[in-house]
Amino acid sequence: MTEPDCLFCRIVSGDVPADVVYESDEAIAFRDINPQAPTHVLVIPRKHIATINDLEDGDAGLVGSLYLAAKAIAAAEGIADAGYRAVMNCNEGAGQSVFHIHLHVLGGRALSWPPG
Ligand code: AMP
Repeated sequence: MTEPDCLFCRIVSGDVPADVVYESDEAIAFRDINPQAPTHVLVIPRKHIATINDLEDGDAGLVGSLYLAAKAIAAAEGIADAGYRAVMNCNEGAGQSVFHIHLHVLGGRALSWPPG
């Protein structure tokens, strides 16, 4: 399922270019256009899901695949041992600006907690 007006669906389809670093049957990952850390990769499902609130029971495996992708990306980027963050924002109040779920994989610098 894709949404023609969705930026990340257009990256999945190849209509919009991206610096892709990982691909699987269920997910792709690409570098954030406005990186907030030396490594800042977005992992997204190929399937259009607008927010965490739109997940269904059948999406459990798909969400798991996003975290397995994050693990592989962290290893490939050399940030796995030092530490990294894999976080998903839900709705405007949490900072979500693109309504196709995506896991931010951030690392390569010290990350404070709690986030702002
Ligand atoms: P969020 O604010 O959690 O929805 O995250 C959306 C992220 O998408 C932001 O970090 C943006 O910098 C990033 N972004 C927006 N457009 C693009 C694009 N064309 N390619 C890569 N990253 C993008």
